[in-house]
Amino acid sequence: MIEVSKKCIGCGKCVPVCPFAAVQVMNKMAVMNEACTLCGACVQVCPVEAIVINREKASARDHSGYKGVWVFVEMTDAADKASAKKIRQVTFELLSAGRRLADELKEDLCAVLLTDKNHGYEKELGAYGADKVYLVEHDELFEYNTDIFSTVIVSLVNRHKPSMMLYGATIRGRDLAPRVAATLYVGLTADCTALAVKDGLLLQSRPAFGGNIMADILSPNSRPQMATVRPNVMKPGAPVHGRLALVVRESAKIDKSLRRVKVLERKIVNECGAVKIEDAKVIVSGGRGMKTKEKFALLEELSCLLPGGVVGASRAAVDLGFKEKARQVGQSGTTVSPRLYLAFGISGAVQHIVGMKASDVIIAVNKDPNAPIFNVAKYGIVGDVHEILPKLIEALKK
Ligand code: FAD
Ligand code: SF4
Ligand code: SF4
Repeated sequence: MIEVSKKCIGCGKCVPVCPFAAVQVMNKMAVMNEACTLCGACVQVCPVEAIVINREKASARDHSGYKGVWVFVEMTDAADKASAKKIRQVTFELLSAGRRLADELKEDLCAVLLTDKNHGYEKELGAYGADKVYLVEHDELFEYNTDIFSTVIVSLVNRHKPSMMLYGATIRGRDLAPRVAATLYVGLTADCTALAVKDGLLLQSRPAFGGNIMADILSPNSRPQMATVRPNVMKPGAPVHGRLALVVRESAKIDKSLRRVKVLERKIVNECGAVKIEDAKVIVSGGRGMKTKEKFALLEELSCLLPGGVVGASRAAVDLGFKEKARQVGQSGTTVSPRLYLAFGISGAVQHIVGMKASDVIIAVNKDPNAPIFNVAKYGIVGDVHEILPKLIEALKK
């Protein structure tokens, strides 16, 4: 709450500093309106200390009613309403991580599923560790929409009061989680690479300052504690088929006016290379050793010859403009774990390795026999990429 005391001399110095046009001087007194966000800018300029902001002490709040670890279930898009969607891999990774947290806290692990139609998704969610599935089925949930999904999740959180909530650090999760956090007025740790329980709180670890240090973050004063987690960082546990999750059906009144963005056309693109790099089963990556953008383009040709192949890049290749940043693999790019990772002209700096070492099979081509990439590669070819790559493409074409 903001208050102006009788000390006010009506000087008006607080008016221009307010970023929200929330203050005006009336009858020689400053008056704040409902646009005030309690930012405190006016307090600092008042020459007579007339403005006082009384903030609720965050630490004084009682969080004992907040229980359970929630995971937002991310679905693929479906071509039409008759087709079933799939649960995205990142959800299973989050459920496996969430299971460990819930076991340590002795609380339930709950999956939050928003969809137009449930095609028995609770079976897979249960197999990966969910005790409960909060299911909201509604026609308006056929396709993802920030306003609608965040409104539904906020109402579920207010109703059931989870202690923690996890989202994938995917395009969708990065869009949804901040909106939910802002509406609930709670914190959010983005892009976590490790999660643990410390003194009953969620310990959230993530790279900071461009990846030069790891930061451990706690949110003791707000609930739910919310985090987005990078895909492919946490390996999902083996599913226990037949393990059942209790389905809790939740009603939702979804007003159409909530939808501020209209989708005019939907296209499911199946062209080669259209798969997101974090979901790819085969990645053909190139580094500085590819030399030019034109030569780098040969990797596109190779990726199209390998089913499910997409092109990745080292940071040096991205900096040189060979490939867009979204395809950068590594600490300040994307973490990947494909079945097959091919590295052409990449030295294997630690910042690159950290983003791809979880790949099942790594094959590296480098002219330097001492290149560190060979330390993580299962198969290595010492040679010139510009001789080897065209031959490999030729052989695959045959
Ligand atoms: P180089 O290290 O220059 O290696 C080129 C390789 O190509 C060499 O091994 C060379 O022997 C080989 N080569 C050259 N010509 C040929 C040829 N004709 N045939 C065969 N081989 C050849 N890097 C990332 O990749 N991802 C990240 O997310 C990332 N994040 C970072 C974050 C921070 C905070 C910092 C400080 C750095 C980060 N880096 C990252 C950069 C990283 O340290 C390296 O600089 C980068 O990975 C090097 O890319 P490269 O292997 O393509 O290039
Ligand atoms: Fe404006 Fe911030 Fe002062 Fe509120 S606290 S009146 S928002 S400057
Ligand atoms: Fe009153 Fe202080 Fe604002 Fe001046 S700066 S109008 S004294 S509240």
